[in-house]
Amino acid sequence: MAPDSRDSLFLPDILPCPVPGRCEFHAKIFGSRDQPGNIAEEWYCWRCDKMHPTTLTKAANPGATRPSTIESLPTELLQHIAGYLPVSCRASLAFASRTLCNRLGTEAWSRTAFWGNKSERYNFLSLLSRDLPTYGLCGRCVMLRHYDSECAWPLLRPHREMRGIQPPVYSVSEFLAQRTLAYYRHGRETGTCMSILACSGTYRKPWTADDRIHAEYAGFKDDDLELGIPIKYKADARLAADNLEIISHVQYQIDLPQPWTSLELAECWAIIRGLYVCPHTLSHWLVTTERQKESTWICSTCPTDVRGTINSDANSDENADENGNEKSSIVIDVWQNSVGRCGDRMTDTVLCPVSGQWFRKGKIREMFESARPL
Ligand SMILES: [Zn+2]
Ligand SMILES: [Zn+2]
Ligand SMILES: [Zn+2]
Ligand SMILES: [Zn+2]
Repeated sequence: MAPDSRDSLFLPDILPCPVPGRCEFHAKIFGSRDQPGNIAEEWYCWRCDKMHPTTLTKAANPGATRPSTIESLPTELLQHIAGYLPVSCRASLAFASRTLCNRLGTEAWSRTAFWGNKSERYNFLSLLSRDLPTYGLCGRCVMLRHYDSECAWPLLRPHREMRGIQPPVYSVSEFLAQRTLAYYRHGRETGTCMSILACSGTYRKPWTADDRIHAEYAGFKDDDLELGIPIKYKADARLAADNLEIISHVQYQIDLPQPWTSLELAECWAIIRGLYVCPHTLSHWLVTTERQKESTWICSTCPTDVRGTINSDANSDENADENGNEKSSIVIDVWQNSVGRCGDRMTDTVLCPVSGQWFRKGKIREMFESARPL
Protein backbone atom coordinates (compact mmCIF):
# COMPACT_ATOMS: atom_id res chain seq x y z
CA MET A 1 0.00 0.00 0.00
CA ALA A 2 1.02 3.61 -0.43
CA PRO A 3 3.38 4.78 2.29
CA ASP A 4 2.01 7.89 3.96
CA SER A 5 4.76 10.28 3.01
CA ARG A 6 5.21 13.31 0.80
CA ASP A 7 8.60 11.97 -0.23
CA SER A 8 7.53 8.73 -1.81
CA LEU A 9 5.63 8.08 -4.97
CA PHE A 10 3.42 5.03 -5.32
CA LEU A 11 3.56 4.17 -9.04
CA PRO A 12 0.05 2.68 -9.32
CA ASP A 13 -1.24 6.17 -8.39
CA ILE A 14 0.08 7.79 -11.54
CA LEU A 15 -0.63 5.18 -14.21
CA PRO A 16 -2.05 6.36 -17.55
CA CYS A 17 -4.99 3.90 -17.48
CA PRO A 18 -8.59 5.05 -17.93
CA VAL A 19 -10.69 5.55 -14.83
CA PRO A 20 -12.08 3.72 -13.01
CA GLY A 21 -9.66 0.96 -12.19
CA ARG A 22 -6.59 -0.23 -14.02
CA CYS A 23 -6.25 -1.56 -17.54
CA GLU A 24 -5.74 -5.26 -18.19
CA PHE A 25 -2.04 -4.71 -18.82
CA HIS A 26 -1.40 -2.77 -15.61
CA ALA A 27 -3.68 -5.00 -13.56
CA LYS A 28 -1.37 -7.89 -14.47
CA ILE A 29 1.53 -6.00 -12.92
CA PHE A 30 -0.11 -4.22 -9.98
CA GLY A 31 -3.41 -6.04 -9.51
CA SER A 32 -6.77 -4.38 -10.07
CA ARG A 33 -7.74 -1.20 -8.27
CA ASP A 34 -11.01 -2.70 -7.07
CA GLN A 35 -9.11 -5.25 -5.00
CA PRO A 36 -6.16 -3.26 -3.65
CA GLY A 37 -4.73 -6.04 -1.47
CA ASN A 38 -1.02 -6.11 -0.99
CA ILE A 39 0.95 -4.83 -3.93
CA ALA A 40 4.46 -6.28 -4.09
CA GLU A 41 7.37 -3.95 -3.40
CA GLU A 42 8.87 -4.78 -6.78
CA TRP A 43 7.35 -5.56 -10.16
CA TYR A 44 8.77 -7.54 -13.03
CA CYS A 45 9.46 -5.47 -16.15
CA TRP A 46 9.25 -7.41 -19.41
CA ARG A 47 11.17 -4.73 -21.26
CA CYS A 48 14.21 -4.70 -19.01
CA ASP A 49 13.83 -8.31 -17.84
CA LYS A 50 14.36 -7.23 -14.24
CA MET A 51 12.53 -6.06 -11.14
CA HIS A 52 11.68 -2.36 -10.56
CA PRO A 53 10.49 -0.78 -7.28
CA THR A 54 6.75 -0.12 -6.97
CA THR A 55 7.33 2.93 -4.77
CA LEU A 56 9.86 5.60 -5.68
CA THR A 57 11.47 7.23 -2.69
CA LYS A 58 13.65 10.25 -2.11
CA ALA A 59 17.29 9.30 -2.65
CA ALA A 60 19.04 8.37 0.60
CA ASN A 61 21.81 10.65 1.83
CA PRO A 62 24.89 8.41 1.62
CA GLY A 63 27.24 10.95 3.21
CA ALA A 64 25.22 11.33 6.39
CA THR A 65 27.56 9.34 8.61
CA ARG A 66 31.08 10.15 7.42
CA PRO A 67 32.59 13.06 5.48
CA SER A 68 32.70 12.57 1.72
CA THR A 69 35.90 12.79 -0.30
CA ILE A 70 34.94 16.18 -1.70
CA GLU A 71 34.33 17.55 1.81
CA SER A 72 37.88 16.63 2.80
CA LEU A 73 39.38 18.98 0.18
CA PRO A 74 40.84 22.29 1.43
CA THR A 75 38.33 25.17 1.17
CA GLU A 76 40.47 27.14 -1.33
CA LEU A 77 40.66 24.15 -3.68
CA LEU A 78 36.93 23.51 -3.32
CA GLN A 79 36.15 27.14 -4.16
CA HIS A 80 38.56 27.01 -7.09
CA ILE A 81 36.79 23.94 -8.52
CA ALA A 82 33.37 25.48 -7.94
CA GLY A 83 34.55 28.56 -9.84
CA TYR A 84 34.62 26.51 -13.06
CA LEU A 85 31.01 25.39 -12.68
CA PRO A 86 27.94 27.16 -14.06
CA VAL A 87 25.83 28.93 -11.41
CA SER A 88 23.21 26.16 -11.38
CA CYS A 89 25.80 23.44 -10.66
CA ARG A 90 27.55 25.59 -8.05
CA ALA A 91 24.23 26.13 -6.28
CA SER A 92 23.51 22.44 -6.48
CA LEU A 93 26.94 21.49 -5.10
CA ALA A 94 26.54 23.87 -2.17
CA PHE A 95 23.16 22.30 -1.54
CA ALA A 96 24.66 18.82 -1.20
CA SER A 97 25.61 19.11 2.51
CA ARG A 98 25.84 21.55 5.40
CA THR A 99 29.66 21.39 5.27
CA LEU A 100 29.78 22.24 1.57
CA CYS A 101 27.25 24.99 2.07
CA ASN A 102 29.29 26.58 4.88
CA ARG A 103 32.42 26.53 2.74
CA LEU A 104 30.95 27.53 -0.62
CA GLY A 105 28.36 29.98 0.64
CA THR A 106 24.86 30.67 -0.65
CA GLU A 107 25.79 33.27 -3.28
CA ALA A 108 25.06 30.86 -6.16
CA TRP A 109 21.58 30.09 -4.79
CA SER A 110 20.76 33.78 -4.57
CA ARG A 111 21.81 34.21 -8.18
CA THR A 112 19.48 31.44 -9.39
CA ALA A 113 16.63 33.21 -7.60
CA PHE A 114 16.89 36.28 -9.88
CA TRP A 115 14.16 36.20 -12.45
CA GLY A 116 16.61 37.43 -15.08
CA ASN A 117 18.53 34.21 -14.55
CA LYS A 118 15.65 32.02 -15.65
CA SER A 119 17.69 29.38 -17.47
CA GLU A 120 20.15 28.92 -14.58
CA ARG A 121 17.20 28.71 -12.21
CA TYR A 122 15.60 26.10 -14.44
CA ASN A 123 18.84 24.07 -14.57
CA PHE A 124 19.28 24.28 -10.81
CA LEU A 125 15.72 23.07 -10.13
CA SER A 126 16.11 20.36 -12.73
CA LEU A 127 19.21 19.09 -10.85
CA LEU A 128 17.25 19.10 -7.60
CA SER A 129 14.27 17.29 -9.13
CA ARG A 130 16.43 14.27 -9.98
CA ASP A 131 16.38 13.32 -6.31
CA LEU A 132 12.81 14.37 -5.61
CA PRO A 133 10.45 11.72 -6.97
CA THR A 134 7.28 13.54 -5.93
CA TYR A 135 8.15 16.86 -7.56
CA GLY A 136 7.93 17.84 -11.18
CA LEU A 137 9.55 20.89 -12.75
CA CYS A 138 7.22 23.19 -14.65
CA GLY A 139 9.15 24.83 -17.48
CA ARG A 140 6.73 27.73 -17.72
CA CYS A 141 6.53 28.69 -14.05
CA VAL A 142 10.16 27.57 -13.42
CA MET A 143 9.01 26.03 -10.17
CA LEU A 144 9.10 22.60 -8.60
CA ARG A 145 5.56 21.45 -7.96
CA HIS A 146 4.49 18.57 -5.81
CA TYR A 147 2.44 16.14 -7.85
CA ASP A 148 -0.26 16.26 -5.24
CA SER A 149 -0.62 20.05 -5.10
CA GLU A 150 -3.99 21.37 -6.17
CA CYS A 151 -3.24 22.88 -9.55
CA ALA A 152 -0.16 20.99 -10.61
CA TRP A 153 -0.09 18.28 -13.24
CA PRO A 154 -3.85 18.25 -13.80
CA LEU A 155 -3.70 15.30 -16.14
CA LEU A 156 -3.11 13.08 -13.13
CA ARG A 157 -6.25 11.00 -12.79
CA PRO A 158 -7.20 11.90 -9.23
CA HIS A 159 -6.94 15.64 -10.00
CA ARG A 160 -9.27 15.40 -12.95
CA GLU A 161 -11.63 13.12 -11.09
CA MET A 162 -11.77 15.59 -8.19
CA ARG A 163 -12.57 18.43 -10.57
CA GLY A 164 -15.19 16.41 -12.39
CA ILE A 165 -13.27 16.78 -15.67
CA GLN A 166 -13.53 13.90 -18.09
CA PRO A 167 -9.98 12.77 -18.93
CA PRO A 168 -8.98 11.20 -22.24
CA VAL A 169 -9.27 7.40 -22.07
CA TYR A 170 -5.48 7.09 -21.96
CA SER A 171 -3.22 9.93 -20.94
CA VAL A 172 0.34 10.30 -19.80
CA SER A 173 0.53 13.15 -17.31
CA GLU A 174 3.37 15.65 -17.57
CA PHE A 175 4.46 14.42 -14.21
CA LEU A 176 4.70 10.81 -15.34
CA ALA A 177 6.53 11.90 -18.50
CA GLN A 178 9.14 13.72 -16.40
CA ARG A 179 9.67 10.75 -14.07
CA THR A 180 10.15 8.54 -17.11
CA LEU A 181 12.65 10.92 -18.68
CA ALA A 182 14.52 11.06 -15.36
CA TYR A 183 15.01 7.31 -15.54
CA TYR A 184 16.53 7.42 -19.01
CA ARG A 185 18.66 10.51 -18.45
CA HIS A 186 20.04 9.68 -15.03
CA GLY A 187 19.23 6.05 -14.37
CA ARG A 188 18.09 7.04 -10.92
CA GLU A 189 15.75 5.05 -8.75
CA THR A 190 13.61 8.21 -8.55
CA GLY A 191 12.49 7.65 -12.14
CA THR A 192 10.30 5.03 -13.72
CA CYS A 193 10.87 2.73 -16.67
CA MET A 194 9.18 3.43 -20.01
CA SER A 195 7.35 0.10 -19.95
CA ILE A 196 4.81 1.58 -17.55
CA LEU A 197 3.54 3.90 -20.30
CA ALA A 198 2.18 0.97 -22.31
CA CYS A 199 -1.47 0.37 -21.59
CA SER A 200 -4.22 -1.65 -23.22
CA GLY A 201 -7.70 -2.91 -22.68
CA THR A 202 -11.33 -2.05 -23.19
CA TYR A 203 -12.86 1.05 -21.72
CA ARG A 204 -16.63 1.24 -21.35
CA LYS A 205 -17.79 4.77 -21.98
CA PRO A 206 -21.17 5.31 -20.34
CA TRP A 207 -24.07 6.58 -22.48
CA THR A 208 -25.82 9.72 -21.39
CA ALA A 209 -29.53 9.22 -20.69
CA ASP A 210 -30.44 11.03 -23.93
CA ASP A 211 -27.93 9.11 -26.03
CA ARG A 212 -29.03 5.65 -24.98
CA ILE A 213 -32.06 5.70 -27.21
CA HIS A 214 -29.89 6.66 -30.21
CA ALA A 215 -27.52 3.83 -29.31
CA GLU A 216 -30.44 1.45 -29.39
CA TYR A 217 -31.53 2.73 -32.83
CA ALA A 218 -27.95 2.35 -34.06
CA GLY A 219 -28.18 -1.34 -33.18
CA PHE A 220 -25.96 -1.71 -30.12
CA LYS A 221 -26.60 -4.92 -28.17
CA ASP A 222 -28.05 -5.09 -24.63
CA ASP A 223 -24.65 -5.58 -22.99
CA ASP A 224 -23.25 -2.49 -24.64
CA LEU A 225 -26.35 -0.48 -23.77
CA GLU A 226 -26.09 -1.59 -20.17
CA LEU A 227 -22.34 -1.34 -19.54
CA GLY A 228 -21.45 1.48 -21.91
CA ILE A 229 -19.89 1.53 -25.33
CA PRO A 230 -16.73 -0.63 -25.49
CA ILE A 231 -13.70 1.30 -26.70
CA LYS A 232 -10.70 -0.95 -27.33
CA TYR A 233 -7.42 0.85 -26.90
CA LYS A 234 -3.73 0.10 -27.08
CA ALA A 235 -1.02 2.58 -26.14
CA ASP A 236 2.73 2.76 -26.41
CA ALA A 237 5.36 5.46 -26.01
CA ARG A 238 8.77 6.25 -27.45
CA LEU A 239 11.72 8.45 -26.63
CA ALA A 240 12.27 11.05 -29.34
CA ALA A 241 14.57 13.99 -30.03
CA ASP A 242 17.74 12.43 -28.59
CA ASN A 243 15.92 11.02 -25.58
CA LEU A 244 14.67 14.46 -24.54
CA GLU A 245 11.01 13.94 -25.23
CA ILE A 246 8.34 11.35 -24.81
CA ILE A 247 5.78 10.78 -27.53
CA SER A 248 2.86 8.52 -26.83
CA HIS A 249 0.67 6.83 -29.38
CA VAL A 250 -2.71 5.41 -28.55
CA GLN A 251 -5.12 3.71 -30.88
CA TYR A 252 -8.81 3.56 -30.05
CA GLN A 253 -11.15 1.24 -31.89
CA ILE A 254 -14.91 1.34 -31.65
CA ASP A 255 -16.77 -1.53 -33.33
CA LEU A 256 -20.06 -0.47 -34.83
CA PRO A 257 -23.29 -2.38 -35.50
CA GLN A 258 -23.47 -0.70 -38.94
CA PRO A 259 -21.11 1.44 -41.05
CA TRP A 260 -20.27 4.87 -39.63
CA THR A 261 -21.44 6.55 -42.82
CA SER A 262 -24.91 5.05 -42.59
CA LEU A 263 -25.50 6.13 -38.99
CA GLU A 264 -27.76 9.07 -38.28
CA LEU A 265 -25.95 12.17 -37.03
CA ALA A 266 -27.47 11.82 -33.55
CA GLU A 267 -26.21 8.23 -33.39
CA CYS A 268 -22.68 9.30 -34.31
CA TRP A 269 -22.76 11.94 -31.58
CA ALA A 270 -24.02 9.40 -29.06
CA ILE A 271 -21.01 7.19 -29.83
CA ILE A 272 -18.27 9.81 -29.58
CA ARG A 273 -19.78 12.25 -27.07
CA GLY A 274 -17.37 13.11 -24.25
CA LEU A 275 -14.50 11.15 -25.82
CA TYR A 276 -11.45 13.34 -25.35
CA VAL A 277 -8.46 12.62 -27.58
CA CYS A 278 -6.21 15.07 -25.69
CA PRO A 279 -6.96 17.19 -22.61
CA HIS A 280 -8.59 19.83 -24.82
CA THR A 281 -10.16 18.18 -27.81
CA LEU A 282 -13.16 15.97 -28.21
CA SER A 283 -13.36 13.56 -31.12
CA HIS A 284 -16.12 15.76 -32.58
CA TRP A 285 -14.31 16.28 -35.88
CA LEU A 286 -15.18 12.70 -36.86
CA VAL A 287 -18.70 13.96 -37.38
CA THR A 288 -17.97 17.47 -38.62
CA THR A 289 -15.53 16.51 -41.41
CA GLU A 290 -18.38 14.95 -43.40
CA ARG A 291 -17.33 11.52 -42.24
CA GLN A 292 -14.49 10.98 -44.66
CA LYS A 293 -12.66 7.64 -44.82
CA GLU A 294 -9.64 9.24 -43.25
CA SER A 295 -9.40 12.59 -41.54
CA THR A 296 -6.82 14.31 -39.37
CA TRP A 297 -6.96 16.84 -36.60
CA ILE A 298 -4.36 18.93 -34.78
CA CYS A 299 -5.00 20.31 -31.30
CA SER A 300 -4.55 24.07 -31.17
CA THR A 301 -3.51 24.02 -27.52
CA CYS A 302 -1.09 21.12 -27.09
CA PRO A 303 1.22 19.11 -29.36
CA THR A 304 -1.24 16.42 -30.40
CA ASP A 305 -1.90 14.89 -33.83
CA VAL A 306 -5.03 12.85 -34.37
CA ARG A 307 -6.21 10.64 -37.21
CA GLY A 308 -9.64 9.14 -37.61
CA THR A 309 -10.21 6.19 -39.93
CA ILE A 310 -13.55 4.72 -40.93
CA ASN A 311 -13.51 0.99 -41.67
CA SER A 312 -16.52 -0.49 -43.37
CA ASP A 313 -15.15 -2.19 -46.43
CA ALA A 314 -17.01 -5.47 -46.93
CA ASN A 315 -14.46 -6.68 -49.49
CA SER A 316 -11.54 -6.59 -47.14
CA ASP A 317 -10.78 -9.66 -44.99
CA GLU A 318 -9.44 -7.41 -42.27
CA ASN A 319 -12.85 -5.92 -41.78
CA ALA A 320 -14.80 -9.14 -41.67
CA ASP A 321 -15.51 -11.16 -38.54
CA GLU A 322 -14.90 -14.92 -38.25
CA ASN A 323 -18.20 -15.66 -40.04
CA GLY A 324 -17.28 -13.43 -42.96
CA ASN A 325 -19.81 -10.78 -41.98
CA GLU A 326 -18.95 -7.20 -42.66
CA LYS A 327 -17.49 -5.52 -39.62
CA SER A 328 -17.59 -1.79 -39.25
CA SER A 329 -15.50 0.31 -36.95
CA ILE A 330 -13.94 3.69 -36.42
CA VAL A 331 -10.31 3.88 -35.40
CA ILE A 332 -8.80 6.94 -33.76
CA ASP A 333 -5.01 7.34 -33.53
CA VAL A 334 -3.59 9.93 -31.15
CA TRP A 335 0.06 10.98 -31.06
CA GLN A 336 0.98 13.24 -28.21
CA ASN A 337 4.11 14.98 -27.00
CA SER A 338 4.64 15.93 -23.37
CA VAL A 339 5.20 19.64 -22.80
CA GLY A 340 6.69 19.83 -19.31
CA ARG A 341 4.23 22.41 -18.02
CA CYS A 342 1.97 22.25 -15.03
CA GLY A 343 -1.64 23.35 -15.23
CA ASP A 344 -1.36 26.08 -12.66
CA ARG A 345 -4.13 28.66 -13.06
CA MET A 346 -6.03 26.10 -15.07
CA THR A 347 -9.66 27.11 -15.20
CA ASP A 348 -11.28 24.19 -16.94
CA THR A 349 -9.81 21.57 -19.20
CA VAL A 350 -7.10 23.82 -20.55
CA LEU A 351 -3.46 23.47 -19.55
CA CYS A 352 -1.17 26.47 -19.75
CA PRO A 353 -0.49 27.24 -23.43
CA VAL A 354 2.62 25.84 -25.05
CA SER A 355 3.68 28.75 -27.23
CA GLY A 356 7.29 27.53 -27.43
CA GLN A 357 6.25 24.39 -29.24
CA TRP A 358 4.06 25.67 -32.07
CA PHE A 359 6.63 24.65 -34.62
CA ARG A 360 5.92 21.03 -33.88
CA LYS A 361 2.26 21.27 -34.73
CA GLY A 362 1.36 18.50 -37.08
CA LYS A 363 4.76 16.84 -36.64
CA ILE A 364 4.13 14.69 -33.60
CA ARG A 365 3.23 11.57 -35.53
CA GLU A 366 6.37 12.02 -37.64
CA MET A 367 8.48 12.33 -34.48
CA PHE A 368 6.96 9.16 -33.07
CA GLU A 369 7.54 7.19 -36.24
CA SER A 370 11.16 8.24 -36.56
CA ALA A 371 11.91 7.43 -32.90
CA ARG A 372 13.25 4.00 -32.05
CA PRO A 373 10.83 1.64 -30.33
CA LEU A 374 12.24 0.54 -27.00
ZN1 LIG B 1 -2.92 0.85 -18.00
ZN1 LIG C 1 11.86 -1.69 -17.16
ZN1 LIG D 1 -4.70 19.34 -26.69
ZN1 LIG E 1 3.45 25.89 -14.33
